[in-house]
Amino acid sequence: MTLPEPRKDIRTLSVEELEEALTSHQEKKFRAQQVNQWLWEKGCTSFDEMSNLPVSTRQFLTCQFTFHTAAPEIQQESRDGTVKTGFRLHDQSLIEGVLIPSGNRFTACISSQAGCQLGCAFCATGKLGFTRNLTAGEIFDQVIFLSRLAGTRKKPENTPGHPLSNIVFMGMGEPFLNYDAVQQAIGKITSKTSLGLSPQRITVSSIGIPEMIRRMAGDDPGYHFALSLHAANDKKRNALIPFNLHHPLATLIEALKYYHQRCGKRITIEYILFAGINDTPTDAADLASFCRNFPVKINLIEYNPVEETGFSGSDDPTIRHFITLLEKRNLVVNLRRSKGRDIQAACGQLSAERKLKIDH
Ligand code: SF4
Repeated sequence: MTLPEPRKDIRTLSVEELEEALTSHQEKKFRAQQVNQWLWEKGCTSFDEMSNLPVSTRQFLTCQFTFHTAAPEIQQESRDGTVKTGFRLHDQSLIEGVLIPSGNRFTACISSQAGCQLGCAFCATGKLGFTRNLTAGEIFDQVIFLSRLAGTRKKPENTPGHPLSNIVFMGMGEPFLNYDAVQQAIGKITSKTSLGLSPQRITVSSIGIPEMIRRMAGDDPGYHFALSLHAANDKKRNALIPFNLHHPLATLIEALKYYHQRCGKRITIEYILFAGINDTPTDAADLASFCRNFPVKINLIEYNPVEETGFSGSDDPTIRHFITLLEKRNLVVNLRRSKGRDIQAACGQLSAERKLKIDH
């Protein structure tokens, strides 16, 4: 006895593939556009909601396809208003997305993978190991949910427009190791017929995979690129980010120069300050020297303690001195104080802990 084929996730189909599936079942070609609108403009995750389709078409779709969704399941809210949501995937994996308020602005921090294989020494996600890449649909679901959540909290009289001010790919996983799905999801998020968010409001953050930086440069996607650098000499970076062992800074610099030449964009450098590890005057000089290769903006980030990593964050006087040393070298530096620390929702802390259930 042969088992029936598992139903395919409908959001992995292109419009052309949808057309083919529908017309081969004697459905009208324009139905594909209608289905596409339900999927990517209305964020629909059930065939029953597709109310402008005949019942027979919905029945056909239900028999042939399914939805692999990222369903919100658990939630925690920080004292500072940051909300962390755990999303359950169809294979029971759990990922996290975070909504970060700042006044009446909201930033959504999105995951691109379940777990991560890169094992950076300071990162809670790295400790989980890797389960799998997310689909574009699962990435899109996080954005839709957090956008709706922001809509319920925003005071509309102050800032009309989209509930989300920004989207950052800084959640679980390395976005450039799931490049195609991330690109596809961003295409949907920015499409005028979907969420219509400007690519200028999206930042993709990566530890810097040279081959993928070159590919992104070729695609010139319009979003911002942020490099998680954290150390600007190979010995120290090898200890923090094992990927650097096989892809040293010289290779990374060449890829970033290429990106800048192709796209003309300034690169955001993210640098977490770890006490006694990468916060000395020599480290500041190394960082300044790295930054001379292309126009940059530096975001210094406070470290959020993660159990069992053994790292601690630099103290305030050290941070201030580090900033002064960079500014003396004419570099633009911002200090990012972390939000959501108390619920492990801050940078490097996402590890899909089970906490509070959402009532649907
Ligand atoms: S910092 Fe990013 S790339 Fe490194 S282990 Fe964590 S999620 Fe993966």
